[in-house]
Amino acid sequence: MLARRQLLGALAGLPLLAAAPDYRLVAEPVAAGIWVVRGADAPIAMANGGAIANITIIATDAGAVLIDAGASHRQGAALAVLARRLTGTPVARVYLTHLHPDHSFGASAFPASMVAATPAVAAQVAGDKAGFSAGLYRLLGDWMRGTELPAPALVAQAGPVLIGGRALRLFTLAGHSPSDLAVLDEATGTLITGDLVFHNRAPATPHADLPAWRRALDQLAALGQARVVPGHGPVDGTPGTAIAQTRAWLDWLEPALRAAMEAGMTMVEAGNIAIPPQFAGLAVARLELQRSVSHFWAGLEAARLPRLAG
Ligand SMILES: [Zn+2]
Repeated sequence: MLARRQLLGALAGLPLLAAAPDYRLVAEPVAAGIWVVRGADAPIAMANGGAIANITIIATDAGAVLIDAGASHRQGAALAVLARRLTGTPVARVYLTHLHPDHSFGASAFPASMVAATPAVAAQVAGDKAGFSAGLYRLLGDWMRGTELPAPALVAQAGPVLIGGRALRLFTLAGHSPSDLAVLDEATGTLITGDLVFHNRAPATPHADLPAWRRALDQLAALGQARVVPGHGPVDGTPGTAIAQTRAWLDWLEPALRAAMEAGMTMVEAGNIAIPPQFAGLAVARLELQRSVSHFWAGLEAARLPRLAG
């Protein structure tokens, strides 16, 4: 057994440990039995612990349903506490809308048997093929401690789901990422879109397929829901404002980048083109434009090269 003096001596030799950071999550009521925990309308950064995605909490008689789980084990655990406080029941199910870590890594705080995702997302998340965890650990350091994603054990399939008396309808779409899940709460007409919809915040495109994304937005718009909970940005209390805004950005982005390339611009110049005044209210527009240049430039270049025979 260590003597007290030895112990203190050993501790003194350790680097000073900063206090573990804490998430301060605030839930906004959206409709009967539905709350949204708003993410910061900013890039993932030490200041926000990666808590930039909107998380939806839905009360059911069988327990709370989470749509997305945050960026880290610690955020997932904080969401579990918050959901229990709001609904009076523990979390019973977690749906992951897509593979991006600001939405999915908080699933670390829940047993795999509780986590549902499409087969494509389950495979992507389990294998961490995009190397998200290393990148996130670099960006977020201690916020990420203990984060280990389970392979989601439940398969999210398109169609109706009844959980604890609450009727949900799942939509399996694509475009923002290779597999995007949207969830409609039938009773309140609340459509939770994941990152298929951004509101007053520029869309992120690291794994986007723009034609597929447009088709998905058309499908969502056709539902005629009462309100939309976007993946990022404020809840849209209208059926179509946020969907139309996301669509308008994507419709502008692709030809704008192509025109920049045709004009002989460099990637840096393309990232500095004028952003139309209609997008003046969008957070992180310049940053997302610059990121989109990096996502799409090589593909645009390849498309311009003459097709080689044989
Ligand atoms: Zn995303």
